[in-house]
Amino acid sequence: MRIGILLISLVFMSCLHSCAQNGQPKLPSLQISDSMKLTEEQWKEKLTPEQYYILREKGTEKPFSGKFVFTKDKGTYTCGGCGEPLFTDDMKFDSHCGWPSFDREIAGGKIIQTEDNSYGMRRTEITCAKCGGHLGHIFDDGPTETGKRYCVNSGSLAFEPEKSNTSTPLLQTIVLAGGCFWCIEAVFEELSGVSGVESGYANGNTEKPTYKQVCTGNTGYAEAVQITYDTSLISLEELLEVFFAVHDPTTLNRQGADVGTQYRSGIFYKNEAQRRVVEKVIATLNKNKAFDNPIVTEVSPIKNFYKAENYHQEYYELNKQEPYCKMVIKPKMDKLHKIFADKLKTKK
Ligand SMILES: [Zn+2]
Repeated sequence: MRIGILLISLVFMSCLHSCAQNGQPKLPSLQISDSMKLTEEQWKEKLTPEQYYILREKGTEKPFSGKFVFTKDKGTYTCGGCGEPLFTDDMKFDSHCGWPSFDREIAGGKIIQTEDNSYGMRRTEITCAKCGGHLGHIFDDGPTETGKRYCVNSGSLAFEPEKSNTSTPLLQTIVLAGGCFWCIEAVFEELSGVSGVESGYANGNTEKPTYKQVCTGNTGYAEAVQITYDTSLISLEELLEVFFAVHDPTTLNRQGADVGTQYRSGIFYKNEAQRRVVEKVIATLNKNKAFDNPIVTEVSPIKNFYKAENYHQEYYELNKQEPYCKMVIKPKMDKLHKIFADKLKTKK
């Protein structure tokens, strides 16, 4: 791959475009948050006897006995031990197995999977990453497109109903910079729930910059994409999960062979709610050591965004046969199709 990138950057030196394939996230491992390292006595005080039996002693409630088996209310299911949001109501389905079942989890490495060979069975246990509380097991027999069934004890969960008077609009925008915008644009165009992606220049110091000016690295602008997404279909957490998987957020002002502030990794948010989500996702990735090095992604409020020249829009879609697209962008797209198959508009 490195040789490939070298070749590409030689061929395309003139436009300084290439995208590296570094920084693949690893699966999160269990690193219990310091505030959640309680003694067994403290846990007993904090939890009800039933919660303690399930969360701390890996117990299982009797089928059809839990309070969330049949619930369909709108809201968020949180960890009964620490309050971390784990599932939302739209991830829940009726599995007829006697325990609340979900086909997905809220993104961000909040749930850890480990092999469980107890009781002569081979199962995969699911545990809250923040407090280490036992939740249940995960199986590969889910009926929805994810194929997963998170089989969770009601007693390990709490529920926060959705506030009816939500002030968050359904359609939101956020600006993401991850090096070469041709690649980032192509990736987000394919995500379900994303209604628009524009390549452009973000958070610079001049007005109406041109591609040529931005390429000098002296304008303060980052090559970026403005993404419009429907929050009822895709969450900011999910967008960021994809974003961090398709670029390297650990190299300052650089993506592979592309060097300069215009190639910096950046998230430019529009409101406080977005900022909180972004910081939480980054903290979780750092805590779980998802990358070998700390994340250096700039997190700033959006100052300005100028749409790039027309020939930069949908560059990959219109130039798939070009060697650059074939050799540099296509591997990223293949990765997207493989890892995030369930999040795509059309199944690959
Ligand atoms: Zn927890």
